Amino acid sequence: MAGLTLPSSEAQSQPATPNRKRALRVAHMTDIHVQPEGKAPTGMTACMKHAHDLIDRPDLILNGGDSVMDVMGADAARAKAQGDLWKNILEDHCEIPIEHCIGNHDVWAWGRDSAEKLQENALYGKKWACDLFRIPERFRSFDKAGWHFIVLDSTFPHDKGYKARLDDEQFEWLKEDLKKTPAATPVCVLSHIPIVCACAMFDGENEKSGNWVIPGAWMHIDARRIKDLFFQHKNVKLCLSGHIHLYDRVEYNGVTYICNGAVSGAWWGGNFQETKPGYGLIDLYTDGSFENEYVTYG
Ligand SMILES: [Zn+2]
Repeated sequence: MAGLTLPSSEAQSQPATPNRKRALRVAHMTDIHVQPEGKAPTGMTACMKHAHDLIDRPDLILNGGDSVMDVMGADAARAKAQGDLWKNILEDHCEIPIEHCIGNHDVWAWGRDSAEKLQENALYGKKWACDLFRIPERFRSFDKAGWHFIVLDSTFPHDKGYKARLDDEQFEWLKEDLKKTPAATPVCVLSHIPIVCACAMFDGENEKSGNWVIPGAWMHIDARRIKDLFFQHKNVKLCLSGHIHLYDRVEYNGVTYICNGAVSGAWWGGNFQETKPGYGLIDLYTDGSFENEYVTYG
């Protein structure tokens, strides 16, 4: 049947049924890293415009986090400058509904020497990001067009920085959320840091010691218990992430894990290794199949 052929990589995770219907078109934009300096404001604007100008315009934007260049080490004024810029660009250039995921760089002041004093501040840590994104909780789920979306919070405190893992409260919530979701409802998971990826191996010289060493801040250090959980729920189809700024796609136990590059490329310095600045354009179908294309925006 014409128009229904899928690339073989798609077929491994979810064979498409004949006459499948598209449920939703999603733009997955991650690692925008906006700041007042350099190419960031015009770049973020150009990316928004690109998605809005598509003849087949997305129904939804998933913001994968690291929306601002960095507030983990920023003082209040510097954090505000980045947050205000983010809000202004979205207000002026984004009409498509947008759902936000918190990235490590969106967490305010964890890396500062004065962090202890700042803990009293109403916007300390992830409250800053929740305020910026106008979201009630740091992790949550919602339903749209027959798909169930789960938005996770990957950033777990470690010294003055972080590791990639779900705190136990969140993991228990995830278990319950998947249990409550009907088995026939396809699930898309959004996390800032990859749960599973291949590209983390190439971010840095991770083989220098003679062994592959993947830092726990680059790929979920609790990936084992998460993939075990997903194995019990065959409706988990697609896990989207960013953080590494490289594009890759891994299929494992029937789940497709896609790290969708970065809108900012090499933090607004062009391509990062082989990956160009871009975003994921995803068609989700009612039968649980999907297609993801990594598009550049010029
Ligand atoms: Zn990140």
